[in-house]
Amino acid sequence: MISYGDMKDDERRRHGAKRAAALTHRPVPLAIIGGGAAGLFAAATAARLRIGCLLLERKARIGSKLLMTANGRCNFTKDISAERMLADIGEPVATFVAPALTRCPPARIVAGFRARGLAVKRRSDGCLFPASEKAADVVHVFGDLLRDNGIPLLTNCPVTGLQPMKNGFIVATRHFTVWAGNVLIATGGLSFPKTGSVGDGQAFASTLGHRVETCRAGLVGCATHDRRILSRAGARYVQNSAASVVVDGEVRYRAYGEVEVEPWGLSGAAVYNCTRWVARHLRGASAPWTLELELDGERMPVDGLSMRPVKEAIVTMGGVSLDDVDPHTMMSRKVPGLYFAGEVLDIDGPTGGYNLSLAFATANLAVESIAESVRMH
Ligand SMILES: Cc1cc2nc3c(=O)[nH]c(=O)nc-3n(C[C@H](O)[C@H](O)[C@H](O)COP(=O)(O)OP(=O)(O)OC[C@H]3O[C@@H](n4cnc5c(N)ncnc54)[C@H](O)[C@@H]3O)c2cc1C
Repeated sequence: MISYGDMKDDERRRHGAKRAAALTHRPVPLAIIGGGAAGLFAAATAARLRIGCLLLERKARIGSKLLMTANGRCNFTKDISAERMLADIGEPVATFVAPALTRCPPARIVAGFRARGLAVKRRSDGCLFPASEKAADVVHVFGDLLRDNGIPLLTNCPVTGLQPMKNGFIVATRHFTVWAGNVLIATGGLSFPKTGSVGDGQAFASTLGHRVETCRAGLVGCATHDRRILSRAGARYVQNSAASVVVDGEVRYRAYGEVEVEPWGLSGAAVYNCTRWVARHLRGASAPWTLELELDGERMPVDGLSMRPVKEAIVTMGGVSLDDVDPHTMMSRKVPGLYFAGEVLDIDGPTGGYNLSLAFATANLAVESIAESVRMH
């Protein structure tokens, strides 16, 4: 160890200059806002590509919504090709997410989890879960990955503002600011706000000049006053069950799958996929719609339906407009260096592992694009 007392004056100056150089302000190459599905996958990608990053999370712990998925079992993707997934997702979302999903198809998502030691279970319909059926195991994979790669994680740390500068961004929190070269907004949609997704990312995007499509419930249950339905509360129809959207007496969309009768109305995959179709395709339409159910082969029209609110939805439809984001990089078309991933964007898919796949794939593409731009500069 060097003692300053033993140094000559010019030696002392040189050593001081070296120490000062080491202490020069440097931006973190990437600040990730949001420690949910997209933000965590982004951090994992940054670790793989050796891009320095910092993860800022509003809540006291990471992955709060991930823990709720599939009733705590986490259907994290589906054993199908990217092409098939895109066909199921449908337009206008499919065209936008095609570059992301093609680059990070379900097979790559599963391989990534398996490589981190997660045992995986496949249901007969192709949906994939942790073998333990515990969503917490998926969150642990990410937690371990952050720890093993020394990725700085700030929990209890809501980002309060974002200011682009000539050489990066100022990321503001309640108590301090961070200088970041690039920023990824991965703050989620508006559903289940207690998990931390309260619309901050949409507000930041709007302040920075992006269009934000009105947020509304995508996959959500339907309340009804229909006594024939409510008298079956507690029943769950899994086999030979379907729900159809009927407009003017014509079936416009049919979804096969589970229907559950709740004390207040209807839930289950078939009902959720119908409400997603209605939210996307009958927006602003004047004709009323209704559902017709097939329960164990018995047909049953439903009266007096209303969709439950966005805060109860599985996914939020609406968010940062796809027109304002480059689908090949996930970078904003308005603010260079600003990226988006996951549900903060106006993207959504059906039930069955599609929405987590979209969060993972868009996060992966954003960070791979950031890595390319960091290496170029
Ligand atoms: C009940 C339920 C069950 C579901 N089941 C499934 C399923 O089985 N399979 C599937 O594919 N999808 C499922 N989904 C959908 C899926 O969970 C979401 O689409 C996915 O979590 C979206 O990921 P995200 O990272 O964009 O947002 P989130 O996972 O919501 O993460 C956003 C994160 O950002 C943080 N944040 C927000 N604002 C700030 C801020 N200002 N500063 C710092 N941090 C901030 C939040 O606290 C949160 O942790 C389910 C959803 C729900 C509600």
